[in-house]
Amino acid sequence: MSSVVQNLQSVRERIARICAVSARDPSEVQLLAVSKTKPATLVQEAIAVGQRDFGENYVQDAMDKVLLFPDVHWHFIGHIQSNKTRWIANHFDWVHSLDSLKIARRLNAQRQREAPLNVLLQINVSNDPAKAGLAVDEAGALLEGLSDMERLLPRGLMTITEETNDTVTQRKYFRRLAQLLNELNAQYKLNHFDQLSMGMTGDLESAIAEGATWVRIGTAIFGARKPVINTQD
Ligand SMILES: *Cc1c(COP(=O)(O)O)cnc(C)c1O
Repeated sequence: MSSVVQNLQSVRERIARICAVSARDPSEVQLLAVSKTKPATLVQEAIAVGQRDFGENYVQDAMDKVLLFPDVHWHFIGHIQSNKTRWIANHFDWVHSLDSLKIARRLNAQRQREAPLNVLLQINVSNDPAKAGLAVDEAGALLEGLSDMERLLPRGLMTITEETNDTVTQRKYFRRLAQLLNELNAQYKLNHFDQLSMGMTGDLESAIAEGATWVRIGTAIFGARKPVINTQD
């Protein structure tokens, strides 16, 4: 077995174990394989064993892979530059990293595929100045702004929390995101606004325990990444 195949199996086992412990149905937790900076050959290995959802952060780095494998689902999870919205709008199925009305308007105007683009609002729950995302109290305004955008379908929230091994802290932030999803559903009449994209290689257990429906896993599947020096988004 290749290491990608073995790694995928171990990640699936981690997910199954924490679902059992936290009384969650494993079918409610989807695995997003984050292939950023990794070659198409590794994506191909994952597809061969049934992986269907892949995450990418940089358009330049994603293009070849997305064009080679059009039949799987592609999720854009990185910072969105204005000059890349057209490509993202027409080659991705999901955007997890929406945090501005300006970018939303561009994606909505440029989306030409039949199905609307699924979008998640990125929330900076830990108020980390180094992280992108909206403050908790800014989410409602962006949602209101999306209400007349027919090509975008708001599906829920995403967060990247501060790097810490302390599971109490991890869970506190993930719980806040889950609570915000409930608050927004109570305040606005939304359909299908039920997705929580939270949890990466280091904190997927905490995220699933707090209600994650998508975990975004890179390192544990594809191995460590070289630092990205010039991120030509
Ligand atoms: C890189 C990245 C991931 C994957 O992180 P790992 O720690 O390698 O699992 C998940 N989400 C986002 C937004 C990322 O940029």
